[in-house]
Amino acid sequence: MSSADASPPHAPPVRAVVRCHVHKFGGSSLANAALYQAVTALFDDGARQSAVVVSAMQGVTDALIALLTAARAGQDWAPAWHGLQQRHLEAADRLDEHGRHGLRETLGHEFATLRDELAALAGGSAESEAIALRLPGWGEVWSSRLMQAALGGEAAGWQRLDAREVLVVHPGELGVAVDWDASHARLAAWRAQHGNGHVVLTGFVARDAQGRATTLGRNGSDYSAAIFAHLLDADALTIWTDVDGVLSADPRLVPDAVCLDSMSYAEACELAYFGAKVLHPQTMAPAMQRGLPIRIRNTLNPAAPGTLIAATSQPAPSPVKGLSLVDRLAVLELSGAGLIGVPGTAERMFAALHRAGVSVTMISQGSSEHSICCVVRADQAQRGREVVEAAFAEAIADGQVEGVRLTPDIAVLAAVGDGMVGTHGVSARLFAGLAQARVNIRAIAQGASERNISVAIAASDATRALRAAHSAFWLSPATLSIGVIGPGQVGRALLQQLAQALPRFAEEGRLDLRLRAIANSRHMQLAGKRLDPDAAIAALADGEPLDLDRFAAHVRAEHLPHALIVDCSGSDAVAAHYPAWLAAGIHVVTPNKHAGSGPLPRYQAIRAATRHGGTFRYEATVGAGLPVIQTLRSLLDTGDELTEVEGVLSGTLAWLFNRYDGTVAFSELVREAHRLGYTEPDPRDDLSGTDVARKLVILAREAGRELSLDEVAVESLVPEALRDVSKDEFFARLHELDAPLLARYQSARAQGLGLRYLARLDRDGRASVGAASPAAGHASLHSRLTDNLIQFRTRRYADNPLVVQGPGAGPDVTAAGVFGDILAIAQTLGARA
Ligand code: ASP
Ligand code: MG
Repeated sequence: MSSADASPPHAPPVRAVVRCHVHKFGGSSLANAALYQAVTALFDDGARQSAVVVSAMQGVTDALIALLTAARAGQDWAPAWHGLQQRHLEAADRLDEHGRHGLRETLGHEFATLRDELAALAGGSAESEAIALRLPGWGEVWSSRLMQAALGGEAAGWQRLDAREVLVVHPGELGVAVDWDASHARLAAWRAQHGNGHVVLTGFVARDAQGRATTLGRNGSDYSAAIFAHLLDADALTIWTDVDGVLSADPRLVPDAVCLDSMSYAEACELAYFGAKVLHPQTMAPAMQRGLPIRIRNTLNPAAPGTLIAATSQPAPSPVKGLSLVDRLAVLELSGAGLIGVPGTAERMFAALHRAGVSVTMISQGSSEHSICCVVRADQAQRGREVVEAAFAEAIADGQVEGVRLTPDIAVLAAVGDGMVGTHGVSARLFAGLAQARVNIRAIAQGASERNISVAIAASDATRALRAAHSAFWLSPATLSIGVIGPGQVGRALLQQLAQALPRFAEEGRLDLRLRAIANSRHMQLAGKRLDPDAAIAALADGEPLDLDRFAAHVRAEHLPHALIVDCSGSDAVAAHYPAWLAAGIHVVTPNKHAGSGPLPRYQAIRAATRHGGTFRYEATVGAGLPVIQTLRSLLDTGDELTEVEGVLSGTLAWLFNRYDGTVAFSELVREAHRLGYTEPDPRDDLSGTDVARKLVILAREAGRELSLDEVAVESLVPEALRDVSKDEFFARLHELDAPLLARYQSARAQGLGLRYLARLDRDGRASVGAASPAAGHASLHSRLTDNLIQFRTRRYADNPLVVQGPGAGPDVTAAGVFGDILAIAQTLGARA
């Protein structure tokens, strides 16, 4: 393998020679001495010249501003000053162990100066204004000294440049502006004296036109980095921070947020405006002007490639790059018939807002011009309403304008991406996602740049809306959050089948089945992201006590588009939850017969809930993995009518009667079947016929008949006397089954008939289950082993019934039936099979 093959897939392209690489470290990357040491390893990229722009140590700017405030207010600032000095001296002792850089002395002097400045402020000195201007910048000065020492100082080729020597700024219309000519000249002079080597630079600080020390404003060191990248004519700029890069959404709200490989300046600007944690647009301006790519990387995870922000972004899988949310907003709406076709309405409204200093986040006006609305900050909303009302006072008095309506508690969700330009279906996807999450949209705006679609929604819907929108764009449409209940034999087999299939699904990328919860009758284990199906049962051992409501709420996670519960419990109590789950939009798949054959009102509640809620599938309840219910469904859906069902619905009874020919006692066969695991632990559960009756009820109901279990005539093979005895006594007296069965067998034979245990639903709706004597041609006499056999007689299949036949019992085939149902649901959600 060549070395190129060995590089990580998204590694930043390595340029032949990087002329000058500017790195910037934020305060969180520089919280203590160990971090200063750690980051020095990150510059080794062969750049001819490295420039390192540092912020203050974490929290230091805040601490300095607090000192400033305290000193001005005449409060005792000395303890805080002392603590700050202590923190820096400790870091200095670690980074300059042998005192080679004289760090302790220098810092000591600078802290003494700070102390004098604070005292001067407290004493109301004439210098106060200048001191207040420069004081917050001390943190960067100290930080640059610590960084230079960590890098080995001048001896190792690292100069230190205090940005106040060269960077000249003045207040501009949109914030602090750079005097490029003056700054260039001063930097050139500094270079002439100090050479062209590596340099550590103070972020945040600068000088003004009068030569006084000042700062660039809070969080200004990103701006410093971009300015110096420009001044130094750098060809690389890396902003080191504490996250892997720019994320598609706020990870605190969207657990599935992904890190973006690349984005354009325009995208970054849009997202930054909407509050995402990206570089501030103003910060990027100096880099943007030169087309200089900016890379955001994580100091704590330098192996991650980070996010590249450049003139154009790489094509991405989703047309939307990021989603952001701004809350604490309100909608102002001006409406009235008098606005229609009247020019200047918008001008009047926004001029009024502008004069009042109310800033407008979003504007929307329908083409009818009957109303115009805008979104403003909540704390400015009342004021905004007043000034707009005043501006239209006359029209309101005349009744031409209805007035101004204020809707509080609004948030704006924005989807941003260059890929949206000229792409159809983007807004459809967004709105479908929001609709599915039942989020009502109050107002919509899309700029003609098509790079941003914004929707105003109720603040209480904000998180749900963000998650729904995120899954609409980033997740496969068939992403299912799955919970499995009751891992008995079938549940175990299902987990195995899932474990086997998941890697294939992941590779194909069409279907994302996420097992996120598992439960047995006592415990449950809930996982934030996913459980490994192979390890899920073991994870139950340290699970929490079972609470099915919490279980369902967890499975129905807001950040995932679909939820599904698989009930392999066989419990009637669990089935009682289905109506509520389905109504909440959770799909339910089960081999548990209780819902399908239990009380009719509950069955009807389930059916009703599926009309607007989740899908209910239970194929495995009748023939395990055989396509019984789906066959019946497709007959009915295509307009056929069911007249009769007849068949062998128990694998256990099939095996017993297929073997029975009067030579071996029936009781012996029951013992053998029990030994082979073909029966329930207590064989009476099979021999009683109840299980078969349940399956018949399920089929009848599927065909639209209102049948209940107590309406089925059931012939039990267990003699009265053995029904209530203990299991041991039952086995001891098993031979009591033999005589009656032998008699029936012989009488059937005498007429040339066979003996089978059959279920029947006839055309008049009569349902019966029991031993019967079919004629020689009957299909049940030609089935084998544990085969189930279901014959549907319908209007179309009147003479010759449609037959479904095959092995109808066993955990593996039953689990496959369950799995098939899961996939069938996924398919309706958009997964390609
Ligand atoms: N230390 C300054 C601040 O916290 C500048 C920066 O970190 O970007 O605002
Ligand atoms: Mg900071």
